[in-house]
Amino acid sequence: MDMPTDRRHPSPPMFVAYCYKLKPNKKQAQKMSNWLNMLRASYNFNLRDRIEAYEQASKPILGVYSRIDNQGECCPLTCSVSKNATIGSPWKNNGKKRNAYEQQSSNLPILKKERPWYKDIHSTVLQQNLKRLHRAFDNFFQGRGYPKFKNRSKFRSFSYPPGQVKVIDNAIYLPGVGWMKYFNSRDIPQGFTVKTVTVRCKSDGWYISLRLEDKTVPDVPKIELSKVKTAIAGDLGLNKLISLSNDEIISNPKFFKQYERRKAIRQRRANRKNKGSKNRAKAYHYLAKIDHKVLNQRQDNHWKIANNLCRKAEILIFENLNIKGLIKKCQPKQDENGVYLKNGRNAKKALSRLIADAAWGELKLKIKFVAEKLGLHFVEVDPRNSSRQCNKCGYTDQENRQKERFFCLQCNHLEDSDLQASKNLLNRGLKQLGIDPNQLPSVRRKVTAQEISLALADEPSNPNETQQLSLFDSRFVEC
Ligand SMILES: [Zn+2]
Repeated sequence: MDMPTDRRHPSPPMFVAYCYKLKPNKKQAQKMSNWLNMLRASYNFNLRDRIEAYEQASKPILGVYSRIDNQGECCPLTCSVSKNATIGSPWKNNGKKRNAYEQQSSNLPILKKERPWYKDIHSTVLQQNLKRLHRAFDNFFQGRGYPKFKNRSKFRSFSYPPGQVKVIDNAIYLPGVGWMKYFNSRDIPQGFTVKTVTVRCKSDGWYISLRLEDKTVPDVPKIELSKVKTAIAGDLGLNKLISLSNDEIISNPKFFKQYERRKAIRQRRANRKNKGSKNRAKAYHYLAKIDHKVLNQRQDNHWKIANNLCRKAEILIFENLNIKGLIKKCQPKQDENGVYLKNGRNAKKALSRLIADAAWGELKLKIKFVAEKLGLHFVEVDPRNSSRQCNKCGYTDQENRQKERFFCLQCNHLEDSDLQASKNLLNRGLKQLGIDPNQLPSVRRKVTAQEISLALADEPSNPNETQQLSLFDSRFVEC
């Protein structure tokens, strides 16, 4: 039943990201926040340029134009040579065409001439900033959201390419900023080299995230499905964060709720401060710190859950929820006279907050990450009717579920509704993988008191041997 011990403490995979808190002096911190402001301006400027070029290519502005001097009709050439960007040179020295990043990057020397204060930023950081924009467009072309302009709160980081940042003992060298100490919360594993480095400003200071790589570490191969012995499924919920198919329940600490009242009071106080005053800035800084604390607590809890779950089984099955759809705002309701009616928005808002606080999506991502690190199987299944279907006879009916209680109208099976749902998910997940649930001793039973005492009695060194036997062995009772 148990997994081999060497899987429990694996060596890190090829890529890992380690995060440390930096200790910059006042000058360095000031410099880095200046950089952020300048980089944000550069990002937004280049984004505007790319949007214009893209829109010109997709929807060319056609029509009859008139010249101002003689008011005669003409049709000017309105598109640029490249549809990627309009600034910079679209051609390389060898006559080949540049991509959007290369083209915008070729404009950097001109930018530094026009705005000499940009010379202060390390050149590789400026290039990485353009690469970030390039990645945003790559994401868009792959069907994700359109790149957005960044305001002060959305643009908090800059990065260095590989080979720039040095880490020696307790100090980090950031080119352009200098040497600074950091909180060495864990050592960099041996044999790893530092790749891309990202510096991030958070509410309680500056952090650095190092991407580490070791090419000699092979990827952990997945356990063969024929050798799998254990599987577990989890039903995600709000009161119980996860109900597991082996009848275990993981409770939801609701971190946000613990701070909700304090946050509301502090928010009200912050709103009353004069706009633009230092006191207002301080008050909002305090609010940001609360959010940061809640985030840290939640992430810590998630990692612990993920690691615990991955010790339990070799196949982990979860439901594929449409979380965005669950959090969606209520549509406004109007009667025929245009008067707004109650649409249950307040009640929905409270529920949405709870769902956001539980952060199921993030939790699943973390479980998936740990599972892949250990070579386990992570499966997502369709949760439709999982809480209405009986896992004993398969009968599906809305009436089966009565809030927390599940009672099958066909076979009279009675169980906790969430635990019941997790068993349905387990069956569906195993079916998806092509494993017969009956062949697998998938669900670990709860160990009873008698089993524990028998196990202890087998142990020769146990001094309580006679006592254990006398409690549970029937022969002693008969005497
Ligand atoms: Zn049934």
